[in-house]
Amino acid sequence: MPMDLPSNWISIHPGLTQKATEEITLRRKIKFKKFSENLLNKGKSYSYKVFLYLPVDLFVAPISLMYLFVGRFIIAKSFMAASDCGDCRLCIDNCPVGAVVMKDNRPYWSFKCESCMRCISTCPSKSIQTAHSFWITASYFISALPVSIWLANFLSDNNIKLIPFFQNSLNRIISACASLSLFYLAYWIFFLMIRYKYINKFFEYTSLTRYWRRFISPGIKLKDLMIKR
Ligand code: SF4
Ligand code: SF4
Repeated sequence: MPMDLPSNWISIHPGLTQKATEEITLRRKIKFKKFSENLLNKGKSYSYKVFLYLPVDLFVAPISLMYLFVGRFIIAKSFMAASDCGDCRLCIDNCPVGAVVMKDNRPYWSFKCESCMRCISTCPSKSIQTAHSFWITASYFISALPVSIWLANFLSDNNIKLIPFFQNSLNRIISACASLSLFYLAYWIFFLMIRYKYINKFFEYTSLTRYWRRFISPGIKLKDLMIKR
């Protein structure tokens, strides 16, 4: 059963209004209740709408894949705590996968981050930002590296001949590994740089999330998360 929920990917777009989020969630709850009751009472639950939703879901499948890779390996490597971070540790304590760690007395986002947006949505002082200017600059320079040419030169210098399929596959794997490693390194340098107040302010004010709306899932109260500590 397809179950679309409100998109919370606020690194990419402004958050929905709290009212819109609540309405969408309520509609989904009613649908889910009906589905689960049918399943429990009749042992099955069908809807003709699957024939409408399935082609749409297949059509957007590449976006889901992009979410997996870009969200996990690139967007999560551009989170930062602005200089007004209150050191409350809420982002560290409430990350479902333990991806935020304290380094140098500041939150640091590790590669474990799955880009679920919980920390950025619940930070009490709205101090967590997606550093778009860092993300765009690093992506531009890393993607401009001529990895394919280096690989082709290396193979030719060593008299290694591969059939085009293997060479293309090798090229993609090496490019992906090089990009990820360089992104990791760039994020580390970025993390060291934002220790300085004015650099931190620059990246904060050139972040779109600084100006975009955020929302907390209906039914969740910030104080409930705080009490967990
Ligand atoms: S939740 Fe916000 S204020 Fe608290 S430690 Fe994390 S970034 Fe800082
Ligand atoms: S976005 Fe989600 S997974 Fe990533 S650090 Fe924040 S809470 Fe953890």
